[in-house]
Amino acid sequence: VVGDVLGAPRGAPAVTVEVALGDRAYPIHIGPGLLGRAGELVRAALPKAGRAFVVSDETVAGLYLEPLAATLEAAGLAWTGHIVPAGEASKSVGRLEALLDAMLGFGLERGTPVIALGGGVVGDLAGFAAAVALRGVPLVQIPTTLLSQVDSSVGGKTAVNSRHGKNLIGAFHQPRLVLADTDTLDSLPPRELLAGYAETAKYGLIGDAGFWDWLEANGAALLAGDARGRAEAIAVSCRAKAAVVAADEREAGQRALLNLGHTFGHALEAETGYGAALLHGEAVAIGMVMAFDLSHRIGLCPGQDVARVRRHLEAVGLPVRPDPARSWDIDRLMGHMARDKKVEDGRVTFVVADGIGKAHLKRDVPAAAVRETLAAALS
Ligand code: NAD
Ligand code: MG
Repeated sequence: VVGDVLGAPRGAPAVTVEVALGDRAYPIHIGPGLLGRAGELVRAALPKAGRAFVVSDETVAGLYLEPLAATLEAAGLAWTGHIVPAGEASKSVGRLEALLDAMLGFGLERGTPVIALGGGVVGDLAGFAAAVALRGVPLVQIPTTLLSQVDSSVGGKTAVNSRHGKNLIGAFHQPRLVLADTDTLDSLPPRELLAGYAETAKYGLIGDAGFWDWLEANGAALLAGDARGRAEAIAVSCRAKAAVVAADEREAGQRALLNLGHTFGHALEAETGYGAALLHGEAVAIGMVMAFDLSHRIGLCPGQDVARVRRHLEAVGLPVRPDPARSWDIDRLMGHMARDKKVEDGRVTFVVADGIGKAHLKRDVPAAAVRETLAAALS
């Protein structure tokens, strides 16, 4: 639904995408100026709430906590905030425990919303706390990174990390409202914006060749700052994710398509320690090129499509192969893939493609072909 239903104050009109989950359906509002209207929008979604518990990280709180607080207060919502350090390390059981303590100390009630203001780290941590505190309190996502606006804030996956691996302690807990204020992307470091772009492009590669064409024409401009293009790309991405989540909320099948590029990507991240050396979106960009290369090797995808994927991601500035300055070991990478959370009966399910926009799941990919893809990328 495109229109000025929210009466967006400036710039492009806000867009609303609905996640159709029956009585747990919720809206994703996308557009400029939404942070300044958070109070009234939270009130509209949760009319009985009198208070709110805000979770953010140090960087995002420094930029956006004051304006959020002002609009909550203007809407008559009392609030308190809990700020964690920025970065993946905050998705820990220790941080979770401290957060739950603060929430319960605040006197959280079953109807008190937890508002996650930040990127995927804050969203996943606050989301999981909201899932387990009092067996579940309402969650509002205010994602401030491109990655969280197109991916992590939508769909209800929440988690913290274990020393045994990433996202291993979590729950499905759908938000009641998502506010993707595109203005917040103006302060995002370019590298983080680009990493989010990889997840955006993923939706084109999975099931929307027309969107991929559009990104080839408009991607560079939206990365450079074109606000309308950003809102458009976020809306298309959220519509795609919302459709998949509505059809397969708990990843019994189709939702696994969203893992395009992630099996290879996670192996690279595991080797680089999930840190600044290789951001998740960067690993996904490389992984998507590898998934298309693999699809070509096993006779599914035409070579021109592999070249197109590589060319566009490279053109916007994403990495398309593992850093050649590092030493990589194919056996170790194969080992990481075999330990992926998505492995069933010891068999890795790959997301492969018959071409751009034609992804599907495949369980019996020969290991030799996977090795060839890795070897080619590392040569
Ligand atoms: P992030 O939350 O760490 O944010 C990246 C960096 O940008 C941080 O330093 C943050 O402080 C800063 N930042 C955030 N918004 C900003 C803004 N507007 N201006 C300036 N700086 C800003 O990382 P992310 O990429 O948003 O999310 C990654 C996390 O999301 C990972 O932990 C991943 O596992 C998770 N994730 C979850 C899902 C899901 O479905 N739940 C999906 C994808 C990813
Ligand atoms: Mg991802």
